[in-house]
Formats: sequence, C-alpha cells, structure tokens
Amino acid sequence: MRNKMLNPRIYRVICVLIFAIIIIGIFIIRLCYLQIYQYERWSERSKSNHISKRVLDVKRGVITDRNGMELAISVETYHVYLYTKEVKDLNETAGTLSTILPLTREEIIKKCKNGKYVLLCKNIELNLANKIRQLNIAGINLESHYQRYYPQNTLAANLIGFCGGDQVGLEGLEKLYDKSLKGYPGLAIQEDISISSNKGGDNIKSITPPMGGSNITLTIDAYIQHVLENELQVIAKKYDPLDTTAIVADPYTGEILGMACYPTYDLNNFAKSNPFNIKNRPATDMFEPGSCIKIIAAATALENHKVDSSSRFYCKGYGEIQNPYRKMKCTGHHGLLDINEAVAKSCNAAMMQLSQLVEPEMIYRMYKRFGLGEPTGIEVVSESNGILRPPSKWSAFSPSSLCIGQELTVTSLQVVQAYCAIANGGNLIRPRLIKSITSADGEFRQSFEPEVIRKVVSPQLARKLRSMLRGVVDEGGGGRAALEDYTSGGKTSTAQKPDGKGGYSNTKLVTSFIGMAPAMEPRIVVFVALNEPKGDTRTMFGSRLAAPSFAVIAEKVLKHLKVPPDKNVKSAENGVNSLLEMTAAHGESIDKLNDTSISIQTLATASNTNSLNVPPPAGINIVPNLVGKSMKEAIRTVNSMGLKAIYDGDGIVVKQLPPAGRPFPLSKILRIKLSSAINE
Ligand SMILES: [Zn+2]
Repeated sequence: MRNKMLNPRIYRVICVLIFAIIIIGIFIIRLCYLQIYQYERWSERSKSNHISKRVLDVKRGVITDRNGMELAISVETYHVYLYTKEVKDLNETAGTLSTILPLTREEIIKKCKNGKYVLLCKNIELNLANKIRQLNIAGINLESHYQRYYPQNTLAANLIGFCGGDQVGLEGLEKLYDKSLKGYPGLAIQEDISISSNKGGDNIKSITPPMGGSNITLTIDAYIQHVLENELQVIAKKYDPLDTTAIVADPYTGEILGMACYPTYDLNNFAKSNPFNIKNRPATDMFEPGSCIKIIAAATALENHKVDSSSRFYCKGYGEIQNPYRKMKCTGHHGLLDINEAVAKSCNAAMMQLSQLVEPEMIYRMYKRFGLGEPTGIEVVSESNGILRPPSKWSAFSPSSLCIGQELTVTSLQVVQAYCAIANGGNLIRPRLIKSITSADGEFRQSFEPEVIRKVVSPQLARKLRSMLRGVVDEGGGGRAALEDYTSGGKTSTAQKPDGKGGYSNTKLVTSFIGMAPAMEPRIVVFVALNEPKGDTRTMFGSRLAAPSFAVIAEKVLKHLKVPPDKNVKSAENGVNSLLEMTAAHGESIDKLNDTSISIQTLATASNTNSLNVPPPAGINIVPNLVGKSMKEAIRTVNSMGLKAIYDGDGIVVKQLPPAGRPFPLSKILRIKLSSAINE
C-alpha cells in the first residue's frame, strides 16, 4: 500500500513542474503569436513611436515684371535642430556649432537643457547649412524652409505687398494671389535619429512631394516703375506734399506699365514701416478731380450736339449761373472762347455755361460711361468706388459743379481709365496688373487679354477730344507738359480739397496732370498727382507742379518703348545746326548767327540761294513777321506757309531766325523765341 502511494513530496514536485511547464508553454505560445503571427503589427507600432509626420515647406511662386525681372522670390533656408540624447559631449558639440551659427557656446548649451529635440537656429543660409553637414555632428538635423525675399527692395512695394513669417500673403498682390502663389505643401515622415540609418544627416522621407506655387508675371515694366518712383521722389523733395502718385498705362490693352506712390516702404523691412506708406494709393485714395474732368464735360456737350465748332462762350473773369445764383472765379479774363479754347484755358465760366446747355441726365450718363465713380476692377485688394451721385440727389448747382470736376470723387486709376478711352478711340478698357500666371513646372499658362468694358464715344469724337487735349499743351495752360521729341496732350488740374464743412479749403489742394503722348496716336497715358503740396498757394498749379513731371516721365518712357519721335525736333535742330555750321565755314561766327540781326548775306551764302542785299525776286517766298504774335498764331502762320519751326519758351514771339522779309531758308526751318509768360 505504501509502495502504491506516491511520496507526497514527489507529488508536489511533479505538480509544480507541470504547472511551470503550462505557464512556460503559455508564454512561448504567446511569444510565438506576437513574434510570428502579429509581427508586422507590432513592428509597425514600435516604428511609429519613433516616426512623426511632417508637412514639407513649399516654394512660393515668383513675381516678375513684364520682362522677367524678379520682384518677389522665395529663398531656401534651413532650421537647425539637435537630438540632445544623441550628443556625446555637449560642450564640444556646442563649441563646434558656435563657430558657424550666430550663437555662443553657452547659448547652445542653455537651449539644449529644454528638451530632447531642440530648435537651435532658424533660417540659416545654404552655405552655412553645408558647413554643418560637412562636420557630420551626431544628433544634428537640418530642415529646409523658404523665406520670401524682394530683390528690388522698395520697387513697386505698394503693388506687390508682402508675406508674413508663415509665408501667407498679408498685403498687395501677395495677399490677392496668395492661393496661386503658395502652391500645395508636401507630406513626409521623419525618423527618430535612434532608429535612423542616416545618423547626423537629414532623416526626412517624402511621401507626397510639395507642389510649388504658380509664378506671376506683372504688366509692370521695372524700368518704367523706376522712372516713376524717381520722379515722385524729386517732386516730393521739392514741394513736400502729403503723398504723390504716378501711373503709366498702355491705352490699348489697359496694361499698367508703372504705378507708384511716395512715400513708400522697404518690402524686406515691412514690419518697421509706417502703415500709412503701405497703401496702394492709386487704387484706394479718392479725391475731387477738378479740371481734368472738363474734357468729359466737353464730350457730353459735343456728343449730344449741344455745342459745335461755331459755339461761343464768354468769360469776364468769373462764371455765373442764375436761379439760384452762383458765381465762381475763373483763372483769368478769357473773353470770347470756342469749345477748344474753353478746354485749353480751363475756363470755369465757359464750363458753367456749358453745364446749362446739357441735361443733368446727359452729364450723369457720360460720366458713368467713362467709368467715373465705379471701381475699375483692377487686381488690387481693396479698390475704392469713388462717388458719383445720380441726378435725383443733385442740387441746382450740381451740373455746374460736375462740369468743373467738383461734387464727385474718383481714384487716380479711374482718371487714367477714362483718359485711356479718349486715347484709344473711345473704348473703356479694364486696367490690368497681371499679364500671365504660369504653373511651377511651366506646363500651364494663363494669359490675360485686353477687356473692353464698353464703347464710350465714337472714334471721331475721341479724336476730337485728343486734339483738344493737344491744344492744352500747345496753346493753353499745359505748356510745361510739352516733350522734346514727341507731341503730347493732356489736362492740368488744381483742385481744392473739401474742408469738411461743406465748402472748399483755400490751402489744401490736389494738383495733377493727366495726359497722353504722342498726342494724336498715343502710346501711353501718364498721370501725376501731388496731394497737398506746400508753398505759396497762388503758384501751386497742376501746370507748374505736375505737368513738368509728366513731360520727364513721358519722354523717358516713349524712348524706352522705342516709339519713333513725331515732333522732328532733333532732325529740325540738326538741320539748323548744319546750316549754322555751313555758315561758320564761310567765315561768320556762330555768335553773330544767333542774333536776329543776322544778315541776309550770311544766310543766303549758307543756303546758296539768292544774291545779297537784293530784294528777292517776285515768286520767292518771304519769311513772315512773327514777332508779337502768340504761339498759336505763330504756329498757324508757320504751318500755313509749309514751314517748320523750333519754338523756345511760351507766350509771345520776341525773336525769330531768319528775320521777317528774308527768303525761306533751304531747310524751311525757323527758330522762334517766345517770352516766358505762362497761361494757367
Ligand atoms: Zn475763364
């Protein structure tokens, strides 16, 4: 019996062993289950603890001028990170890094105390990043980013705008076209350096590559923009206005070739700039336009056949209307005027009389057709509408006010758009800043075609208006807008600013000039304005302040665009010069020739014509007497005789070469000097 019974001790040992085997078996089965059956799942889970997803920075599109000059670009920069647990000797690593990064050894050590993965330095340049790579320091990670940079600094700043630190457009075209420019960021995984095979280097693997932003080509020409900004600086220095504005547009396409305001700001330093200087003034700032609107008032009367070439106005130094009575000063005592002279002399009296000939609806309709008081639709963030109230809200004075450019507010761009319609034969064209948008890979390109909004006036009437504007420069108050090698037309404005009490300020003015050149077949429309210039208000006229800048800008731009001169001044001058040289070769001094008392003998010798001191025979053309005549009369006489002339100065003819009574010179060119008196 005793033999049949197991020793209880042995029995316990066997039980413990069986129990242990079962437990170990369970462990082994579980281990096999996890290691073999569920290997992939657990492997992935383990890996994911060492991997993080990252959004890859994308290169923002480039903004260039119409000729490809870069105005806004994205530069690749690097952020430097450090895995602190990978660093063997922090003192040594910090010391090495401090020789490359703009940080001291102590600063690096201090940063490393704040965590496992530390951002040491942001936006370092590529060459510094390469130096760090070459050192092959354990634990270092370089992340690439992009930073916006504006290579031309202040050029076209008010148009382009800028991006914030996160590459989001905050102002100007950067804001308006943010969606196109920013592209699509990529996605990547980043391994913990402890499992990365790429120790010490970049350990980011791209899943979805980023798609760069589209590139935008502007209609702006950087050279023209530069000319505008330079000229605005010159007049700002001279007259100390609150601000100045200038625009150059192609009247046929509506393309803005240059659009500037001053003061401006540095795009690479926008955070430190005065918010006042960031505005895109030509599109946002509104003002009462004044006299430049008189051409549209004239168009209203001509279009509706209320005025023609036989119509006459009378100016006694002021204009007046009856019922109710209103009197307004004129810029001079202009006497009897036709419609051309009324515009050329900017006569308020004539315009007030004209306002009584047309119906209020006609004025409103024509002004609306010219796009006044409504946004042009140009590509800017916040364009102002301007104000043109309907006739139902007008007072009895409104028609006369509107005909001299009061009781409405416009933006500079609206004035340019209206004058472009006169320049291009009567079409209102939408002004544009964007020429094309191209995808980052260059495969897709969207170009923008000229957009005619509506027909404003007939080509014949537009031509008539251009010739009236030419009269302003040739014979009226815009003489300072005359170019050397090109004809030009345009209109001065000297508008008092509203004083906020229902009247007008006597000291606060907006002076401007809007014009086109060449006068009859214009290639450009140019606008220049000064807001509240300082100085003697009796001389603060658009003709004195803005017209000379128009001339400087238009002359440079037309030459830059290689527009052939239409005034022949150079060739005419060459003609006279060669005449003078020939004379000098015949023994006469140039000084003597410049005197109007030049003898017939000299000229006759030079031009190899008639003999000396003998009255010219019948049938020979005689130079007319122009001394004492106005420029207008002189031009008429010279043209009627098939001659050409170089005019020097304004006002009344005081000298002429050759003098009256002499035979026509072979060159058929006269040199005429006028007194410097200017009509305003
Ligand atoms: Zn007058």
